Amino acid sequence: MYKFKKCALCGAETDLELSHIVPKMVMRTLKKTAAGNIRNSENPNIPAQDSEKHYMLCGSCEDLFSEKETYYANTLFHPYIKKEKTKFDYDSKLFYFLTSLSWRSLYLDLIDFIENHVVGIDALEHLISCEKIMKDYLLNSRNDIEAIEHHIFFFDERREITGNTEMAELRPHVTFHRGIISYTFCFEDDGTYGTITNMMGIVLITLYKKGSREKWERTQILNGIGSIEAKDQLISSVVGNEFMNILKTTQSASNSISEKQMAKIVENLKNKADKIKDYPVFQNWLSDRELHNK
Ligand SMILES: [Zn+2]
Repeated sequence: MYKFKKCALCGAETDLELSHIVPKMVMRTLKKTAAGNIRNSENPNIPAQDSEKHYMLCGSCEDLFSEKETYYANTLFHPYIKKEKTKFDYDSKLFYFLTSLSWRSLYLDLIDFIENHVVGIDALEHLISCEKIMKDYLLNSRNDIEAIEHHIFFFDERREITGNTEMAELRPHVTFHRGIISYTFCFEDDGTYGTITNMMGIVLITLYKKGSREKWERTQILNGIGSIEAKDQLISSVVGNEFMNILKTTQSASNSISEKQMAKIVENLKNKADKIKDYPVFQNWLSDRELHNK
């Protein structure tokens, strides 16, 4: 847990509040609907009580964020989780909330990236400038976040067919719908950088830079009034790798699986790492999972 001296957003040197990276209500909902203890992928043997949090923001910045978080909870998160709706109309408060969420995650990841030389200098510089742009927007010093894009992917595509059944072993449905995770990724060769956050099947992907082969359909959230539907979404992106990564991380933590089985799955993934790159493959695998369940 980080304990900053100054507010990460406004810079005020004051008592800081314990800020959640992924909103607390996501964890609350997960707990409420869980059959057993919630386990944290990083430390699977200890039931997690709460999601990741840090002393990061002052009281007024927390207040600035909380109104938009409530908006997101009421307009999108709860209606989706309760399966009340599949189409969501929104206004600019959603864009603000998504920015605040990815900004928190990026801010913390940048500390790690800088300390541990995780990414190259070009990527690092780009991410640092994006962090600044989002910070200014969050402080209401600007109205947009330039070319940075927010996308929401609902992890419940219902499709009809095809190949790749062995991947069903990874339990994608369970992983995404029972999971909470947020981190920043960089595909430096492709020129695609972003932050991915899974909130029980609502996956936010903020793209700081988009490679030329990226294709995102019916996923983007506009900075203003719009609507998004959990239907016919398509992603053809290197970010498909991150979906795999989330599955892998969660799966590694699962204690319901034997060592032998685990080794098999890991080996399987290693062999397929290159092929998983394009999202449609992954899409198909989801369909299989769907069929498998019928
Ligand atoms: Zn502040």
